[in-house]
Amino acid sequence: MTELNGEKMQEEEASDSIQKIENLYPERKLPPEAIVTRVAPSPTGFAHLGFVYISLICQEISRNTNGVFIFRLEDTDQKREIKDSDTALLKALNVLDIKYDEGITLDGEEKGQYGPYRQTERVPIYNAYIRDLIEKGMAYYCFMTEEEIEEIRKEQKKNNIKPGIYGQYSKWRDATPEDIRKQLELGTPYVVRFKWPEKHEILNHKDLSGKEYFFDTEQYKEDFVLQKSNGIPTYHLAHLIDDYLMKVNLVVRGNEWISSLPKHIMLHKALGLKPPSYYHVPPIEILDPETKGRRKLSKRKDPEANIFNLLKDGFPKDGIKTYLLWISTSEYDRQTQIQNKPIIPDFKLDPSMLKSGAGSLLDINRLKNISREIIAQMSPEELSTNLLEWSKLYDLDFYNVISNSDKSYLQRCLETVNNPNRNRKDISKYTEIPEKIGFFYNEIYETLEYEISSIQNLPFETIEKIINDFLNRYKEDNTLEDFVNIMKSIGATNGLALNKEELEKTNALGLWSMVPAIIRIAITKRNISPDLYECIRILGTRELENRMNQLLNYLREKNG
Ligand code: GLU
Repeated sequence: MTELNGEKMQEEEASDSIQKIENLYPERKLPPEAIVTRVAPSPTGFAHLGFVYISLICQEISRNTNGVFIFRLEDTDQKREIKDSDTALLKALNVLDIKYDEGITLDGEEKGQYGPYRQTERVPIYNAYIRDLIEKGMAYYCFMTEEEIEEIRKEQKKNNIKPGIYGQYSKWRDATPEDIRKQLELGTPYVVRFKWPEKHEILNHKDLSGKEYFFDTEQYKEDFVLQKSNGIPTYHLAHLIDDYLMKVNLVVRGNEWISSLPKHIMLHKALGLKPPSYYHVPPIEILDPETKGRRKLSKRKDPEANIFNLLKDGFPKDGIKTYLLWISTSEYDRQTQIQNKPIIPDFKLDPSMLKSGAGSLLDINRLKNISREIIAQMSPEELSTNLLEWSKLYDLDFYNVISNSDKSYLQRCLETVNNPNRNRKDISKYTEIPEKIGFFYNEIYETLEYEISSIQNLPFETIEKIINDFLNRYKEDNTLEDFVNIMKSIGATNGLALNKEELEKTNALGLWSMVPAIIRIAITKRNISPDLYECIRILGTRELENRMNQLLNYLREKNG
């Protein structure tokens, strides 16, 4: 976009400036069903799950209607601004692979023809519209001091009257042009307020969620601020002008904005603009661990509100996105039931499916189940790439170990816990992987403690004999069947029963399953492990031998 010359615009008629501005924002050439939407966060904190949720909805519906998705930064509230939070927001979208067509990019550049996409760079634009409203008598300069406003607030409270500056409470609403000019010349600080029309009417709004609202203008009347005393516009004015110029036809935003909607409808009317459609998104809720009641996900109390905590916790990005898509519409659930599938990979969200009514509950167990399905669909190659990427960011010790050896080794290890063809879906988060496959790596194996409870009733000599027998008989080319038969036969020759009846009838020391239990403890140091046969094949006979001997040494020392 060509540079806007703010100073020059101050000198000309507001309507001329507006004309010039509007020429810079031509109609978009899009198919009639195209949704042009935007996410417009303020850089006032971390990347909230709600922000990701709205961004994902915007991405999906714009993409599925051949529309446009814009990322706009609403950075006009400098008091609340938190350093680097714009980067956190952009990083979150980037990491999650949520793509927008226009807006600010992670490297601070802008893409798109309808910018600038940072509100602080658009101040001359807002000012033109504000001046126009003043010239038309629909907005006015207000020179009231904080003290005066406070006095009014107190009086309204005492008399139980709707709070705010409006009608008779506004000293400057009907001031003469001379009085205004005088104050301006004196340099008295001012704000610009909207002149809420006297005419009483009922505003009707139908949200895209299907919900219909009626607002009585009498109840909402307020000469709200359009421009603050620092010359910067408020959200009410700025977002509306931006959405209008950027040709946004659907505003998707949190439903906490419903109560401000009457202001926005009135402002559209004053400016002679047609409002876009709105979808006020029900909030993401959580079950409060203390009260057990539902409440809005809280920035302060709930770590899961920060998208980076969910990622750090090991949820795959596609798991998070699929989950959010699922809660955005009841249609997703319906489709999973009709198609009898746990997830629908090619699901297409369209605006008619968006959810109305109550908030959506963040159910971590469901998120886990979806993530498990998503991980189960990853090829060993994909999973190893994702795991390396994840651990590099969040578990550097593990990363250093796995990245130090062959990637195909990692893939084979992963296949023991995640192989949908063999119905192994053991992983729902990347954080679970180090515990499950760490033993395959010597550096980790060495740090593990033996869990020997399941074999502690066997005499040392028996364990030693079993281990030696196994090492003598196991061959690298054994089939799974050979492997099982060898273990059974070693069990039998070492006084272990083949089944329960035999165990009861004889004085066997235990069942033959003690044999795999010993091998398992030797090679994994655990009582539970992935498929033992596979584990041995991956580790190789030399390592098998080392680990078996290591267990013997350990038990020998333990027995004194
Ligand atoms: N800047 C507003 C916020 O962060 C955006 C609301 C909107 O999308 O219009 O809540």
